[in-house]
Amino acid sequence: MALTGLEIYKLLPKTNCRECGFPTCLAFGMKLAAKQADLSACPYVSEEAKQALEAASAPPIRLVTLGGDDHKFEVGNETVLFRHEKTFFHQAGVMVRLPDNLPADERNAKLDEILAFKTERVGIDLFLDGVAIDNASGDANTFAEAVAAVRAKTNRPVILLSSNPQALAAGLAKEGGLSPLIGPATEENWQDMVKVAKDGGASLIVKGNGALTALANLAEQVKAAGMEDIVLDPGGRTLTETLTQFTQLRRLALKKNFRPLGYPIIAFAGEAADSFEEEVVAAAQCIAKYASIVVLDHFDPAAAYVLLTERLNIYTDPQKPIQVSPGVYEFNSPKPESPLLVTTNFSLTYFSVAGEVEASGLPAWLLITDAEGMSVLTAWAAGKFDAERIAKAVKTFDVPDKISHQKIVIPGFVSTISGELEEELPGWDIRVGPRESVDIPSYLKNVWK
Ligand code: SF4
Repeated sequence: MALTGLEIYKLLPKTNCRECGFPTCLAFGMKLAAKQADLSACPYVSEEAKQALEAASAPPIRLVTLGGDDHKFEVGNETVLFRHEKTFFHQAGVMVRLPDNLPADERNAKLDEILAFKTERVGIDLFLDGVAIDNASGDANTFAEAVAAVRAKTNRPVILLSSNPQALAAGLAKEGGLSPLIGPATEENWQDMVKVAKDGGASLIVKGNGALTALANLAEQVKAAGMEDIVLDPGGRTLTETLTQFTQLRRLALKKNFRPLGYPIIAFAGEAADSFEEEVVAAAQCIAKYASIVVLDHFDPAAAYVLLTERLNIYTDPQKPIQVSPGVYEFNSPKPESPLLVTTNFSLTYFSVAGEVEASGLPAWLLITDAEGMSVLTAWAAGKFDAERIAKAVKTFDVPDKISHQKIVIPGFVSTISGELEEELPGWDIRVGPRESVDIPSYLKNVWK
């Protein structure tokens, strides 16, 4: 059971020495209870107290790492049910299933396609996290060959899927020791699976039959056998079952601090679907609530783009907008007489504007001001995108040295600051541009000229 802040406080030294970074032991105890501090921050906790506090200080959902140093991702260690409460920390890994019984040519072509997929959104590269190699053949040698073929092409994390411990052992022998995830361990095979996972340095999927009590018992047995890095598959395979079980698992881990179910969750989206479209819907649902790893049966670039964008939106910190660096950006080889536009450093704003300027094919300068990562209207309302800041950016980034005119185009939404900007930039022609970035190309073609 989780300890309250007061219970934790009773176990602390009570000297209020502040070395933990908190003003009092009580404040530190409260933070520990809320999972917002680490016990190791206090150097004076006794061994006896440490043991009692371990349960309280351990993360409610275990952190599990897949992959080696080149490519790895971590899942778990979440502390809130809803993103707006704080943030989600470890984004769901999105992987694609690769059956081992595909002809080698087909398998390699599919793998190449998965590995080559890369797209970009607000300046962040998005790609798939790895593949789940499925022992669909049922044959250990075929499985090992498929694992070796994958490893010959990539160091990205892999999941090895088989109900046969011998096949998994054969696959692990070819995997390369890059912390894979294997499984599933079930009521029938968990002892053998634990041994194979421990021998191969792998994490283990523990699969239930839909009943969470049975899943908790199984996870406890697996843990008692020495397997700490567990990923749960509660067993539901419809949208409703998946949503219900995943939500219950997350709630039990975070709200009840129920350790037997405090592990990341894996979803097999294709198994919850009758069509490719349903698979994408299932994957989207699981990314939103509360899968840590989503395995797709099919790879499609459009679907991957949608799912990775959804993931990006959910896993960005709501308190830290994604920003680009303030400065002057060049598009289409601008010359001194080319137009100068200005906007804020909120990534979505920058990439919307930059995309349109670039697509216009016309040369232009884009001045990005430091608006603390806010969009144009939000920044204007917060006093972070005003005449003073724009004028300061013009000077800071030596704009007059780059252009031969004194004209600046401000976003249409902040036309009201044009008068103030004229005062801040004497002699400059302040022009009001379009409200929406989509209208920038026609503005540059028709109005600027
Ligand atoms: Fe108390 Fe330990 Fe923090 Fe010092 S470091 S204030 S003893 S909790």
